[in-house]
Amino acid sequence: MTPTNRENPIHPKFIVGIEPPAGRTKKALWFIFRGRDILIKTYKNPGAIPRLLDIRELGLPVIREQYLGVLEGTDCFSIELPQDAKAPEGMEFVDLRQAYSEMSEGCFELVNKAVQVMEWDRTNQFCSRCGTKTSQKPGERGKECPECGELFYPRISPAVIVLIRKGSKILLARSPNFPPDMYSLIAGFVEPGESAEAAVEREIWEEVGIKVKNVTYFGTQAWPFPNSLMIGFTAEYDSGEIRPDGFEIEDAKWFSVNKLPVLPGKISISRKLIDHFLKEEGLEV
Ligand SMILES: [Zn+2]
Repeated sequence: MTPTNRENPIHPKFIVGIEPPAGRTKKALWFIFRGRDILIKTYKNPGAIPRLLDIRELGLPVIREQYLGVLEGTDCFSIELPQDAKAPEGMEFVDLRQAYSEMSEGCFELVNKAVQVMEWDRTNQFCSRCGTKTSQKPGERGKECPECGELFYPRISPAVIVLIRKGSKILLARSPNFPPDMYSLIAGFVEPGESAEAAVEREIWEEVGIKVKNVTYFGTQAWPFPNSLMIGFTAEYDSGEIRPDGFEIEDAKWFSVNKLPVLPGKISISRKLIDHFLKEEGLEV
């Protein structure tokens, strides 16, 4: 184990690593991406992440490779393929947004990590300050510009998501990009220089035109669309009439717990917030 490897206190099964161990003899897990599509198996354990000794067994045109670390003794890698790569026999590319809804939470966490490391590698090949080709910093998940010394670490963008309650009703809203009939919670990115709590109040005001009170922290979730850390809150309705902005939000309503629309998948923090509220209201989830 290199000195940079460390135990993750929350998920002790996965140990982050930077350099792959020399002379691997066991099969590894390969998180293989073509843009925002992930390669999964279609027979013998369909939906599973490919497990191979070496990615080259698949004969794919690999652009870049990153070592992620060890999951219960199994090495994990992320791979970037070109847009025109074809799936090998017995496998298929699935859109990440579709794939995640069918994954276990543990698998989603790893895919999440893998796609963000792959994206960081892909988008930091050159220094954004002086344009020189960057080099990988030994032993760190970082890149360095050999010319001006600028450093490039994976970027994480904080975003807030909030469940607004009004008695036993909750506010759910629809983005024009959502699947038909699906509603979710108000969410948005934290702006530079802004606290997460202020972002909650601003986003709610901008998107649906109401005021809230008692903004309370709920929990966080890493979210790979594209590199967010979703910070979950609950809040109580204070004043105002719902007024969707017509741009990010095409419709928003108060929903009773016993008459909910189509909701986001179980893995998402929005659904965890909603399910938590339903439990508080004494409903089975
Ligand atoms: Zn530079």
